[in-house]
This record gives sequence, structure tokens and C-alpha cells, in this order.
Amino acid sequence: MIDVHTHLHPPRLFAAIRRWFAERSPWVLEHPTEPREVARIMREHGVEKFAFCSYAHKTGIARDLNAWLNETARELGAGAVPLATVHLDDPDAAGDMREALRGGCAGLKVHENVQHLALDDPRFGPVLEAVAEHEGFVLVHVGAIPWSYETNNGPARIARVLERHPSLRIVVAHFGIPDQLRYIELVQHEPRLFLDTTMAFALDSPMRVTVTREDVERGARQIVYGTDFPNTPHPYDGELHGLRALGLGEATLRAITTENARRLTPAFA
Ligand SMILES: [Zn+2]
Repeated sequence: MIDVHTHLHPPRLFAAIRRWFAERSPWVLEHPTEPREVARIMREHGVEKFAFCSYAHKTGIARDLNAWLNETARELGAGAVPLATVHLDDPDAAGDMREALRGGCAGLKVHENVQHLALDDPRFGPVLEAVAEHEGFVLVHVGAIPWSYETNNGPARIARVLERHPSLRIVVAHFGIPDQLRYIELVQHEPRLFLDTTMAFALDSPMRVTVTREDVERGARQIVYGTDFPNTPHPYDGELHGLRALGLGEATLRAITTENARRLTPAFA
């Protein structure tokens, strides 16, 4: 399997994120956070490759985070694929992006809510150009789900970014909730747009999606497997069990959990 959406952060940042969830959310997060331990658990579940990311929630930290992500990838060995972070209020976000790609990153993670940045902000232009030139992909958490279902017309904004960057590939995290049906329409005509399954299918997920098997089958060629591990209040295989519970055929499941991701970046091929 290929998991396109997992999280590794430097220890102090990870501790701060866990504290945030403990104080401000009902989620109980107890999976290990140490990179080797996280990777070991995933590999035990049959994950051969995984993308992992952190995010710069403020200025001045993106470069150090990217250096840490690339170093961690080297420590974890084959199959560990880092996604960079940038902050648009830093002096040279595009330069930071290019440096991260040179160091091994396979793309970019943007979290619109945590970073207070919108992917269609024109200042992202040269950053996204660097990602496209590198044949990388962008993983984007659109809006503020699960805390708010307002996405400021997320699907239209994402479509605009794809138009502006004719070779860029974008993965919308969390199955595009709450706009999942609009995204499923969009992917019919846009082969560079993907949706990840992250926390949308696990049966006991606090942000489980309402979607039919037919809807999933309609988008199946551009749905990729993601989990948010280790920041999930359910076991690693919860997402997979949820997908299986839909009654999808084996070929469709295999496309979603493994094959589709190979079209995202040469790092997954
Ligand atoms: Zn995530």
C-alpha cells in the first residue's frame, strides 16, 4: 500500500500538537510519534511507501522543518517520502521550496487552516511552479474541517489553481469533505486532481464522510489512500476497514490503496 498522508514532526512541535488536541478537542491521540516507530507500525500493516509532512504555522521555521523532514527521510530509508512546507510571509518561499525539493522532498503540504494561507493565493504561484517542474504534487487541507465546514468555495479555488498550473497535480485531503460530491464531479474531467481517504472512511472517525459506494466508484481512479497516522483517534487499519466496508471490488480497492498514487510522483512509482 501507499499512504499519501501521514505526519512526522520534530519532537517539540509534535508535543505541542498533541497538547493542542488534548486541550481543545475530544480526540484521544495515543499512537507513537517517534519517526522509526511510526514507520515500523505502517510497514507492519503492509505500507511500502508513505508521504509524511509537517507544517509551518508561522514564519521563520519552514527551512528548518524542511531540513528535518529530509534528514528524517534519509534515516527512515526507502519508501519514506517527505513533503515540504513553506510560509508565504517568509522572504523567499519559492527559494525555500526549491531547496526542499533539492534535498529530497517530493512535493508540498499546505494546511489552509493551520497556516492561515489559501492555496489560490497568487503568492503561491512560483512555489507551485517549482513543485510542478519537479514532477511533485501538492497535498492540501482545504478550509478548516473538521472544526468548520466553510471552505470558501474550495472546489472552485482548487480548479483555478489547476488551470493556472497546467502540469501540477493536487491531492485534496480528507476526501474534500464537505464538498466531496463536487470534487467527484471535477475529477471526471481533471486527471491531475486527486482526493485522499484520510479520516473520511474509518468507521469510528470523527469526520466520517457520507458517500455511497457508487460515488466512490465514480471517482475511484483518482482516490488515493491516506490516513493522518499517527494523529488518529483510531487504529492504523481503521481507514482500510472503512473502505472495505463499502463493498468495493478488489481491483478498485487496489487502485485506491496502491496504484493511483504511483501517478502522483516518481517517488511512488
Ligand atoms: Zn493531516
